Amino acid sequence: MLSKIKNYITDNTGILIRVDDIAENMNWDLMKKSELLFEKYSIKPVLGVIPNNKDSKLLAFPKKNDFWDQVRNWKNKGWEIAMHGYTHVYDKMCQKSDDYFNYGGGSEFVKHSLEIQMSRIKNGLKKFEDEKIKIRAFFAPNHTYDKNTFAALKNCGINEIIDGYGLIPYAENDIKFIPQLFYKISALPFGIQATQIHLNYWKQEDFDNFEKFIKKNSNKIITFDQALQKINNNFFYKFINVMSKKFLRLKRIGLNKEKEFNI
Ligand SMILES: [Zn+2]
Repeated sequence: MLSKIKNYITDNTGILIRVDDIAENMNWDLMKKSELLFEKYSIKPVLGVIPNNKDSKLLAFPKKNDFWDQVRNWKNKGWEIAMHGYTHVYDKMCQKSDDYFNYGGGSEFVKHSLEIQMSRIKNGLKKFEDEKIKIRAFFAPNHTYDKNTFAALKNCGINEIIDGYGLIPYAENDIKFIPQLFYKISALPFGIQATQIHLNYWKQEDFDNFEKFIKKNSNKIITFDQALQKINNNFFYKFINVMSKKFLRLKRIGLNKEKEFNI
């Protein structure tokens, strides 16, 4: 009996590494170091690539001219390339009530018409298509989505999102969600979730902490496909996901979402 429970917990515990804000202009020194670290521990992260970056904060970083060759290299290593917005510019401010996950704040998508949201997603996908990179997953800048964002994604053939609440991946309205629970890099004793990292803004100390985390938890780190295989919509998990939303909404009040936390 005990070993059965132990196996059950092991089967349903895993961390997917989601790397945000991958663009032509970024912190290439830390990206290279992270790449070597992932290779050393055979980790296949999800990279959130911005297809047409216009975010001035990111444009301040050095530009890599062979960026798309680099993205294809990562893809060839079996890393998952996801689309992270289109330009990464927040041109709307939204209230918690406007936003599907109730975070609110700056958004590239929320409060725009379905037509505008669709054209942004289509243009983004076209860039990947031109570069011969197949995309199946998406996550929005600043975690902000409304009904039209989901409709636009589905109309464009994207139905996998790495965001949201919960301890186990789930499907809702024909969209598969891999939850992304914590801003702090952490390993839960139970649950399958993505943990986001913003390495562009790291200092050496943050990288060192990340390296320690990977060393300690490498056996728990899973791939995007492994996370998708864990989709579970049974009543117990739905209940857990709703509870995690209630709990985390309370905890998140006053937190800056795009801020990286130390371990
Ligand atoms: Zn971002």
